[in-house]
This record gives sequence, C-alpha cells and structure tokens, in this order.
Amino acid sequence: MSEEEAPHSTLPYPPLHQDKKFVVLSDWDGTITNRDSNDYMTDHLGYGQEKRRQGNLEILSGRVTFRDAFKEMLDSVVANGHRFDECAEVLKQNITLDVGFRDFYDYCQEHDVPVVIISSGMAPLIRAVLSKLIGNEEAKNIEIVANDADVREDGSWSIKYRHPTSGFGHDKSQAILPYRRLPNAPTVFFFGDGVSDMSAARHADLLFVKKKPGADNDLAAYCTRHRGEVDYRRCFEVGYRVTFDTMW
Ligand SMILES: [Mg+2]
Repeated sequence: MSEEEAPHSTLPYPPLHQDKKFVVLSDWDGTITNRDSNDYMTDHLGYGQEKRRQGNLEILSGRVTFRDAFKEMLDSVVANGHRFDECAEVLKQNITLDVGFRDFYDYCQEHDVPVVIISSGMAPLIRAVLSKLIGNEEAKNIEIVANDADVREDGSWSIKYRHPTSGFGHDKSQAILPYRRLPNAPTVFFFGDGVSDMSAARHADLLFVKKKPGADNDLAAYCTRHRGEVDYRRCFEVGYRVTFDTMW
C-alpha cells in the first residue's frame, strides 16, 4: 500500500528505531508463542475449532476480510459470556513461549537489535501473557504494535482495530513501510506464521515463516501461492541474495 493509501491509525505507534542496523518485527500469536491465543479463545471459549478453521480458510481464499472474520470469532467468545479479565487469565494459564524465543530475545538485546511485537491480537492480552512468561519489568519494555480492546462496564468487550478502514484490521505493513522511507534504513526482519501476517509478508527485507510441522501454517501457504510476487528489489538493495523459497 502506498503512503497516500495508508489507513488512518486509531492507536499510536512507538517511535521508529532510526539509528539501528537491524530491527526485528515479529508476530506474536503462534510465532513467539507456542499457540495462537485468539485461536485458543475461539476454540475453547467461543464457537469452536471447526468454525474458526473455516473462517481462517475463508480469509486465506480472499472471500472475507481478516477484520470481519476475526471479529466474528472474538464476538463468539463474548456471546458465550466470557469477560475480558477471565480471557486474560485463561490465556495466562495456557499460552507459553516458543522454546527458542528467550535466547533469541537475549541475543537481540546484547547486540542492540530492537524487537517489536506486531500483532493482530489485543495489546492488553499480550502484555498479560508476557508478564506471566518473562516478568512484569521485561514485559513492560517490549514494544507492542497491536489492536486494543473496548471493555464495557457489564464485562462485555470487543476488539478495537488499529486500522478499522483496512480489511486487515491492523495492516502490519504500516509498521514496516516507515522504516523503508528512512535515509539510512535498518534491515527489517519480519517473523510470522499466519493469515494475519499476509499484510506484512511482501514488505520486510527478510521474511521468516515459522516452521510448524503438523500444524496449520497459513503464511507458508500464502507465500507458496504468491511466490514470485515478493519485492526482490529491496532484498538486493540490502545485499541479501535471497529468493522467496529461501525466506522460510
Ligand atoms: Mg500468528
């Protein structure tokens, strides 16, 4: 999406890391974590895995937008009477980190590489789970660019999209593109695993798709389907002789 077409953001962005050589932008659900927390909520507290999976496939095929299908999934959790704070507790009990994340994060800290979470989930739930997994202090320091939640007094809630006019709800490319306009742009790595990462997949300098043997991997499917449409030019500019095949 070009600069003119950038959707209006209802939520602020953290400042760009202007002076860094590398910046890591990573999906949260199913990439940093061992399982997708929103899938978990929908499967266990909402209308269940079968309908949720149908929704994912509809998004992947382009028949519905991520924004609309994902909201429907989360609304099914609310319709079953589950309050927001209850959802946070359930996720804290059931979501864990990918086994490699802690080492990776420490390596990035030691080498002055910022790690920013770019998520289609809701920031308060991500912070709640992160605090449990890596401690309050560390969790506070990690930057999160995500959606938010509107929590009402009666306990009901709904997702508050960062980009309500975008079919992605949160257009993740908008976290990447400003880096590419910097005079000395850092190399941007993007890590992801699912349908919510499709908006970012074309714009990172290097895209890493998480390997998930035996599990759904919709970003891998998307990349296979759109092989050849990636922006090779940018990859060459930063000196990486990569092909779409070797990115994941
Ligand atoms: Mg994901």
